[in-house]
Amino acid sequence: MVITYRYKFGKSMSIENLERRRFDTLVIGAGGGGLRAALQLAEADTHVAVVSKVFPTRSHTVAAQGGMNAALANVLPDNWHWHMYDTIKGSDYLGDQDAIEYMCRSAAHLVYELEHQGVPFSRMDSGKIYQRPFGGQSQNFGGEQAARTCAAADRTGHAILHTLYQQNIRAKTHFFDEYFAIDLIKDKDGFILGALVLEIETGEPLLIEAKTTLLATGGAGQLFRTNTNAHINTGDGLAMALRSGIPLQDMEFFQFHPTGLAGKGMLITEGARGEGGYLVNKDGERFMERYAPHAKDLASRDVVSRAIAIEVREGRGCGPNADHVMLKLDHLGRDVLYKRLPGICDLSKTFMHIDPAEESIPVFPTAHYTMGGIPTNRYGQVVVPVDQGEESIPGLYAVGECACVSVHGANRLGGNSLLDIVVFGRAAGNDIKKYLKENRHHRQIDEESVEQALVHLNRWDESDGNGSETVYGLRAELQKTMEDYCSVFRTEEILQQGLEKVLELEKRMNNVRITDHSKVFNTARIEAMELENLVDLAVATVKSALERKESRGAHSRMDYPDRDDVSWLKHSLYYKEGHRMDYKPVTLKPISVDSFPPKPRVY
Ligand SMILES: Cc1cc2nc3c(=O)[nH]c(=O)nc-3n(C[C@H](O)[C@H](O)[C@H](O)COP(=O)(O)OP(=O)(O)OC[C@H]3O[C@@H](n4cnc5c(N)ncnc54)[C@H](O)[C@@H]3O)c2cc1C
Repeated sequence: MVITYRYKFGKSMSIENLERRRFDTLVIGAGGGGLRAALQLAEADTHVAVVSKVFPTRSHTVAAQGGMNAALANVLPDNWHWHMYDTIKGSDYLGDQDAIEYMCRSAAHLVYELEHQGVPFSRMDSGKIYQRPFGGQSQNFGGEQAARTCAAADRTGHAILHTLYQQNIRAKTHFFDEYFAIDLIKDKDGFILGALVLEIETGEPLLIEAKTTLLATGGAGQLFRTNTNAHINTGDGLAMALRSGIPLQDMEFFQFHPTGLAGKGMLITEGARGEGGYLVNKDGERFMERYAPHAKDLASRDVVSRAIAIEVREGRGCGPNADHVMLKLDHLGRDVLYKRLPGICDLSKTFMHIDPAEESIPVFPTAHYTMGGIPTNRYGQVVVPVDQGEESIPGLYAVGECACVSVHGANRLGGNSLLDIVVFGRAAGNDIKKYLKENRHHRQIDEESVEQALVHLNRWDESDGNGSETVYGLRAELQKTMEDYCSVFRTEEILQQGLEKVLELEKRMNNVRITDHSKVFNTARIEAMELENLVDLAVATVKSALERKESRGAHSRMDYPDRDDVSWLKHSLYYKEGHRMDYKPVTLKPISVDSFPPKPRVY
């Protein structure tokens, strides 16, 4: 078939003229996950390309504030095995224990590696890396609070991302900056062989063929109206996987961070409570003492978010609308605040006109982190269920927030995501090197799959100005729907209504009008494709939440308030086709130590 595709404002081109480039590995996403993998490959002289829809150092990793966990024991006694226990308990026992052991054991090595690559970690007087206490951390398997989070003030992600970018430039990684990935390309045997991407500035498509493809496209916080995420966090990689028939795992688990700026969403790092800040309600009561007598304000994020929501619901909220609580930091003193939390001080002055050294900050839970994602094993390979167990999809890898390894299970601990992205970025890089040794030649791509991707692109041609819906309007409605129907507390009835609403929005996507008033850039078309991705993920999230009839970690069902290990100690898998659900067992067996069997989770 000869297909023509419209690539910009009605201009057409035929498939024979489609520009093609070849690499050993295509990395989609230039956050910490993608860059750590690319570095591993470029240093081994692999021909690696990184595609990013924004300039690499604008990826959301840059916004990570509080730090990265590793049991260095610089401030208090610590041990990777305690870190492993805390992570499993934090995950409400849904995390896979082999992957968690691997991550916690590798952590110290990776922090020292980053230190030597140039990350300017904060220091103690002794010169050792400074570590702050974070939520859900304990010594000795549930004992006293630990201090495990290595920080570069409250700009840790910024330091890590810039360092990794510079290391990649040194190692000669090839960057395609401001290119938007649309769809994965396959061959007839189901090997993934690259992707169709769009150069945002010119609107011209480019086919990048590769022996291996790594998805590192980050999370989907833009599903919710009030969130801590960047505008670009639309879960594109997850939706690309869904469209190629790959299921998404554990999508019902979305983390709400307890301390977003009330009404605005910007994040106030957990490090603020780590440094000694605490939450109060309208009576000035330190209410976390009632919900988590032992860990108090440093209980797991799901626990603190629920406590705040209950305080507000029961009428103990602050402000004229009694719709938030206060984070008290002034008792820490100006010196500590401006040394350890300079970014937080800036943020709260800029957006709230509040100096935290003098007044408390209004906060409320806000959508933060996508625990679910593309199912992978601890080598970063994408794995799907087959008749007898699991099988990896040849040539396809995923790491970082778009992947579900699963080390975070039903609830991620603060400081574990920066760790996740470097640990599994490196692991995937290593496995790709092995794969490339065994698969030396480029395979023949299936031109039909290229055509399919081009047809998909044609769907979002700017010259089509006839629909009655706008991208902006639908995106706002989608985010509001998710906030109203799939938030901190959930019930069958609310989720059912939510599902109907998102399916209705899916239909209304057919009626979208795309007009690029600037007539210069492709922003309208890109935003339409991002919205299309968000809609698919909204359906995945609400459907998975509706089906899980228990409360576990971040998924809190008022109609099923207890965790049910008999029926629900399993990962969910959602398929786009027919909105079908499937399930697979949790790996309870670690690599070298004894398993931590599920027990009641109290903080
Ligand atoms: C405000 C904030 C603070 C945080 N603080 C911490 C913390 O202190 N500690 C911690 O452990 N975790 C923290 N997290 C979580 C952590 O930062 C993220 O989970 C992690 O950085 C994600 O990294 P990533 O590499 O997976 O993706 P990202 O850094 O989000 O990068 C995604 C990349 O994919 C690219 N991309 C996406 N879609 C496409 C497409 N269609 N085509 C081309 N490119 C595409 C983007 O351009 C980008 O380069 C925080 C998160 C937020 C939002």
